[in-house]
Amino acid sequence: SYTIAIIGRPNVGKSTLFNRLVGQKLALVDDTPGVTRDRREGAARLGDLDFTIIDTAGLDEGAKGSLTARMQEQTETAIALADALFFVIDARMGLTPNDRAFADFARRANKPVLLLANKSEGKHGEIGAMESYALGLGDPIQISAEHGEGMGELYDELAKLMPVPVEEEDEEEPIAEEWTDEEIATRPIRVAIVGRPNAGKSTTINYLLGEERLLTSPEAGTTRDSISVELDYKGRDFRLFDTAGLRRRSRIEEKLEKLSVADALRAIRFAEVVVMMMDSQNKFEEQDLRITDLIEREGRALVLAVNKWDLVEKRGGMIGQLRTEADHWLPQIKSVPIVAISGLMGEGIDRLMAAIQESYKIWNKRIPTAALNRWFEDAIGNNPPPAVSGRRLKLNYITQTKARPPSFVVFCSRADAVPTSYLRYLTNSMREAFELPGTPIRITLREKA
Ligand code: GDP
Repeated sequence: SYTIAIIGRPNVGKSTLFNRLVGQKLALVDDTPGVTRDRREGAARLGDLDFTIIDTAGLDEGAKGSLTARMQEQTETAIALADALFFVIDARMGLTPNDRAFADFARRANKPVLLLANKSEGKHGEIGAMESYALGLGDPIQISAEHGEGMGELYDELAKLMPVPVEEEDEEEPIAEEWTDEEIATRPIRVAIVGRPNAGKSTTINYLLGEERLLTSPEAGTTRDSISVELDYKGRDFRLFDTAGLRRRSRIEEKLEKLSVADALRAIRFAEVVVMMMDSQNKFEEQDLRITDLIEREGRALVLAVNKWDLVEKRGGMIGQLRTEADHWLPQIKSVPIVAISGLMGEGIDRLMAAIQESYKIWNKRIPTAALNRWFEDAIGNNPPPAVSGRRLKLNYITQTKARPPSFVVFCSRADAVPTSYLRYLTNSMREAFELPGTPIRITLREKA
């Protein structure tokens, strides 16, 4: 859906605006740890406009009001995900250097920006609103997120930006364009290889291309920045996407390259299966989490490749340790396949390609309705949903609405009363029962008419 990121320095009222726009639906915001460690997302509504909103709040300003690297990264991620930006300032405070720094981000994004002068209730905000013209982000819209003022004007401006909504197809109907088993087995699998700079993405791709016949070079029609190549690996077709790895780079560029969220996101969106490449010499950290978050958010199948395995001396136990770490960091995609490889030596590549094919199959999986409901009854029986204000919550039945990734609707008595933790229980239980490792699983709730 149309996605808006709320950008601005801390304390300008971003979260208040987020809460106002998400309103009653807040209960359905996914608060899975990991998914939203750095940002909150919610289904927002303003008048008849429906959109997704991303809040980047929750981090403190660095020492002496400086911007922390994390804050910048978080803003960069939100901007990459968004179709348009709400840039929020505190109209009572006037502009600070940090406002200007964030405004630079917003301008460079080349996406539509609405400048919101918040805390403008009464006449308080006029000074800041006047000053804000200097940001070069257009006319400020004076709002008060807390008191709900200025929402009419915000609606008018947003309506101009948003595409005219098309009638959404009824999710309960099975999607018309269902892939046959034949197609799943034979179509080229679209694979993106992402990860931090120097993890060994290019090396691995070069190994693959060197071993096997390169069928075509850069695909026409894709954007300049994302290059793909077709690969026939032992009789199976793949299309590999990589944003940086396939480009020729000078040694110096290579060293200076930084992780670009926008690049990673582009590759992820092209792909069906994403290989997240890690360097066996590095620990799993923040930057990796940012990428895996995107993969989960975009609903792609995930394979973890631990590269430079040739450098690991004590191999015993390391995969087990990685498994524990991965399940901790990625609670929403438990049991991700982990493959140890050396792109340089060509070790483990067969297993990597097999894991990609297996994940792809799982990502395409349809579970027969009877088996699904048998599991559902058991899962509810073993661990009934909690009662809410003394009333028992009734979950009636479940149905799979689509694959790629496997997505389900649970019909229930009160959709807003089912805690996220219970949904997570169902997801994990389903993942185990039907052996669905490494794919996001979407379960949404619907009230029974
Ligand atoms: P990218 O930025 O992810 O594309 O990483 P590169 O493929 O450019 O690799 C970064 C550095 O790691 C290069 O110096 C590679 O030679 C080295 N490298 C890549 N894969 C391996 C591997 O499997 N083993 C070892 N020892 N070095 C590797």
